[in-house]
This record gives sequence, structure tokens and C-alpha cells, in this order.
Amino acid sequence: MTRCIFCDIIAGRSPAKIIYRDERAIAFYDRSPRTPVHALVVPLEHIASLNDLMPEHEALAGHLLLVAQQVACQENIAASGYRLVINTGRAAGQIVYHLHVHVMGG
Ligand code: 5GP
Ligand code: ZN
Repeated sequence: MTRCIFCDIIAGRSPAKIIYRDERAIAFYDRSPRTPVHALVVPLEHIASLNDLMPEHEALAGHLLLVAQQVACQENIAASGYRLVINTGRAAGQIVYHLHVHVMGG
């Protein structure tokens, strides 16, 4: 596998403003925020994109949504509203090939 920036952040080899962490997922602020609150929810396991999600990841996929909800709560955008985005593949503009959910609001 070529070097993965999100694996580096998970391992503490690259800096990021981490706002949530548990045994399966991490969340940190996007370094180029496009909304007042712009965080990324990332599984600790390296899964390149939504296309690589397997049936055995079903619980993990649900967990990522609950983490996104938790992050929205922490960031005080749960009531006002927020958007989740998963860019998948070149035409969608995916640039980091480690699955992540954008949490955008505020
Ligand atoms: P996507 O792959 O869904 O198009 O977007 C990847 C997102 O990751 C972009 O919004 C980009 O700003 C963010 N990003 C890329 N590299 C880093 C990094 O090293 N640190 C942080 N915090 N965000 C990053
Ligand atoms: Zn990775």
C-alpha cells in the first residue's frame, strides 16, 4: 500500500485536530474547511472507498454514522442541521483513498 495520510493521522505520524476517537473510528477537522464546521469521520481500518466496503463492514458502517451524529452534537450543529458526504471515486472528486464521512454544518 502506498502511504495513506489518514492512516498516518490515525497512527499519530501526521498532525490533525482530533475531536473524537474510539476503538473503531476517529474524527478530526478537515484541514481545508468548506463550512464553519467541517469534520471527517474515518474508520481506523484502512478501507479505500465506499466501493471497498464489504458485508463484514456492516456494523462499522453504522458506527460511522453514529460517530457523525456524536460529532454533530459535540460541535453544536445537531439542532441547526448538517450534511454528511462520502465522495466515492474520481468523478466524485475523492482525493484521499481512505474511507471518510464529511460532517458539514454551522
Ligand atoms: P475527499 O477525498 O472526500 O474529496 O476529501 C478529502 C478531504 O480530506 C478534503 O476535504 C481535504 O481537505 C481533507 N484532507 C486531506 N488531507 C488532509 C490532512 O492531512 N489533514 C486533514 N485534517 N484533512 C485533510
Ligand atoms: Zn489509510
